[in-house]
Amino acid sequence: MERANSPIYIYADNAATTRLSDVARAAMLPYLGDSFSNPGGIHRYARAAAKAVASARATCAACLGANPREVFFTSGGTESDVWALAGCARAARLAGVTPLTIITSAIEHHAVLNTCKSLEQDGCRIVVLPVDAEGFVSPTDLEAALQRAAEDGTMDGSLLVSIMHANNEVGTVQDISTLSRVAHEHGALFHTDAVQAAGHIPCKVDELGADLLSVSGHKFHGPTGTGLLYIKSGTPITPLITGGAQQWGMRAGTENVAGVVGMAAALEEAVANMDVRAARVGSARRRITDAVLAACPGVIATGPRDAARRLPSIASFICPDVDAELLMVILDQDGIAAATGSACSAGSTEPSHVTAALGYTDPALARGTLRLSLAGDITEAEIAYLCEHVPACIRCAQATSGGDPRNISLFGASV
Ligand code: PLP
Repeated sequence: MERANSPIYIYADNAATTRLSDVARAAMLPYLGDSFSNPGGIHRYARAAAKAVASARATCAACLGANPREVFFTSGGTESDVWALAGCARAARLAGVTPLTIITSAIEHHAVLNTCKSLEQDGCRIVVLPVDAEGFVSPTDLEAALQRAAEDGTMDGSLLVSIMHANNEVGTVQDISTLSRVAHEHGALFHTDAVQAAGHIPCKVDELGADLLSVSGHKFHGPTGTGLLYIKSGTPITPLITGGAQQWGMRAGTENVAGVVGMAAALEEAVANMDVRAARVGSARRRITDAVLAACPGVIATGPRDAARRLPSIASFICPDVDAELLMVILDQDGIAAATGSACSAGSTEPSHVTAALGYTDPALARGTLRLSLAGDITEAEIAYLCEHVPACIRCAQATSGGDPRNISLFGASV
């Protein structure tokens, strides 16, 4: 990693993407070399590739408590989310039960929110539920929205609830089993975007009560450009990508053999080491959060206070009167890769829709978001470094907000 003025460089942006694990890389290598082949063929090379894909599917299914026939490989979390929503909307249209009403939350990833906007233009009804100050969707609000939909005369099979399992900016973990139960009581399908949850916290489809569940490989040390959509058997959904007969005609396109093999190896490794990693990152997150709050008066820790109801790896803050992009530059120069919030909003000066939904609409607060997302192999030296340097960088950004980052002096060195 490139280092600027710092003797150390810590990657604390794992919610954006993670380093490919050695286990995943080793599993992939044969399929990037001599074991190349299209799994759709009949010859022995093709059969070997098809076997690798089937084995990856079985591994992913076991990690999620699903049947392999319910696991469909995609190009990532975005495709899985779009497929879940657009595929259900089309199936409802074809079955003549339109309009589909989609009930979602205000803190979903843009893959869900922008797809809802686009489906609204196609005639779907969209209901966006608010969240409380810690990012939780209330089951009572969901119940009320489902009841209103029933009063508006929705037909059987025309309700879909899509609520994310874990939020990518503030780490809130929703009570998915309760929300899915409420949805099912009203005859709705339930989709959850588990992109930040899978491999990090328990994620079994039956326990969650999900009909559809999105996963992305690069969030748990698998390769970028890999993902899957779990579709419970019997769920009415049409394909999103049409073409060849791959994946039982549900998702066309030659399978990314090395990719799915790597994703499966990474997911298996993440699930096997989940408890140990969660304990380590959870303790690191608490120490870093305490250090920031002690040294930076006015800074607010966002997301749930109860550690059991948040992702162990994400620490998120609002730093009043700080320009988040300036803070990113200062942190980077000091050897820390962090994020302002969702990776997809990098480069945009728009305040995050997530912090706004949590109630932080004052511009002096909304601009100053900071997210540190930690990896399970974080070392004691790295934790100590973050505890010392993150607060110092925030104070530096507070002191220089509105100034030119090139004139900033940190720990005696000009950055
Ligand atoms: N959903 C959530 C909650 C995410 O955090 C992300 C990526 O950051 C996505 C969906 C999109 O996943 P991908 O990058 O695999 O398309």
